[in-house]
Amino acid sequence: MVITEEMITPKKATETGQAIRSLHVLSSGWAEQHREHRYGSWLPKLWWIFMSRRWVKLPINYFLIDHREGSLLFDTGLDPAIAADKGYISSQIGQFLLRWIFRFHITEKDRLDRVLATNGLSVSDIRTAVISHLHFDHVGGIAHIPQATLIVGAREWAQLSKPHPEHEWILRDHIEIPRAKWQPITFESTDDPLSDGFEGIFDVAGDSSMILLPTPGHTPGSLSMLIRNKG
Ligand SMILES: [Zn+2]
Repeated sequence: MVITEEMITPKKATETGQAIRSLHVLSSGWAEQHREHRYGSWLPKLWWIFMSRRWVKLPINYFLIDHREGSLLFDTGLDPAIAADKGYISSQIGQFLLRWIFRFHITEKDRLDRVLATNGLSVSDIRTAVISHLHFDHVGGIAHIPQATLIVGAREWAQLSKPHPEHEWILRDHIEIPRAKWQPITFESTDDPLSDGFEGIFDVAGDSSMILLPTPGHTPGSLSMLIRNKG
């Protein structure tokens, strides 16, 4: 996804009675990745990992949604420990490859609890977090919100049961953590015209304001969220 200036400007619902009162883009720093990684390449993977000198910027963003019934997150960003703690990735080969594939620009001030505080919120205000997919740069804040229900697509959750999910940068150590309240969901077809062309939808709050759609590709169980306000 490409983040545009328009998207990072907070949108306020001007009409009273809107389910979604505001939407903010939050940042957990940024990274660099090889151009070949981002856009694809005919070159062998091992060639560009070790030989490419072309790096592109990768913003690591997530979203804070102020719904009238409480605050939600869409994704939780990256854990600063990935840059500071050599043991963040448990496998030796993973640690080695990570440093060839990504350069991280993230510090402790980018931790989820601190980012929420600068937005006037406490971690305990978050009731729900929707996780688009299980890559490490989307689940890095879940340890700070043990009270929150963590919604994830059931197909994405199933990736954890496959051999070596860490080869796909899905790190079980940082997903299956004590107290995390994961809720894998399935999509259901409805008479909402929005579901045309999709296998189904998932209505997060039951008021049609936040609709999850299956959008596999980046990972087998990736999902997207559509925010809807009147008008
Ligand atoms: Zn990803």
